[in-house]
Amino acid sequence: MLQRLDKFISNQLNISRNDTRKLIFKGEVTVDGKPVLKPDTKIDTNICIVSLNGENINYKEYVYIMLNKPKGVISASTDKKRSTVVDLVPEHLARRGLSPVGRLDRDTTGLLIITDDGEFAHRVISPKSNLIKRYNVVLDGEVNEDVITKFENGITLHDGTRCLPAKIQVVKVILKQGVYHQIKRMFGVVGLGVNELHRCSIGNIVLDENLKLGECRELTSTELDEICKEYKNN
Ligand code: URA
Repeated sequence: MLQRLDKFISNQLNISRNDTRKLIFKGEVTVDGKPVLKPDTKIDTNICIVSLNGENINYKEYVYIMLNKPKGVISASTDKKRSTVVDLVPEHLARRGLSPVGRLDRDTTGLLIITDDGEFAHRVISPKSNLIKRYNVVLDGEVNEDVITKFENGITLHDGTRCLPAKIQVVKVILKQGVYHQIKRMFGVVGLGVNELHRCSIGNIVLDENLKLGECRELTSTELDEICKEYKNN
């Protein structure tokens, strides 16, 4: 793909276009070993080797990040007052345009994918992709046979939204949708409150148990291939 040099550096290293231009004017940027002083120079992102102060910049069109979301942060890119999941992305993975793929409530923990690939996010969220999301739930009461049957038959939320059949395995819930506050509202219908909610997986992507709350890592190429295959096949 052809891209302007200043845009390429700004995107890949998450620095402002202005600062990028300054670096280019100072001669700190080389393309294929030669200094390039014009920010609007077009480079082929797949072929050219761009370096900043002698360090090659690894080109990635998009980044895909797995976060173990802690409580207390909101699933958004920016917020004037509250801290967001994107604030937790470490500097070496930070990019312009990062957004969470779907949402977890502020008090929900667990797997959240963050990316700057809008098409991927759209495909993962779309109910048509049929990606299964698994949650561990701590309730404030007993789950009896009646509750299990109601979930399996498809709960109708108090506002009339019909939820697809969902399974309860003791206190694990497997959803194919992402209705707002869905699990809390589904349990609310059967008179149970949710004390703790933790997402363990989305499709084939399982939260890495080595990630502590608040920690991120990039998705591996296998994880990415698998989830893309899954949403294409569904
Ligand atoms: N259902 C909820 O109620 N909250 C979440 O964060 C995710 C699913």
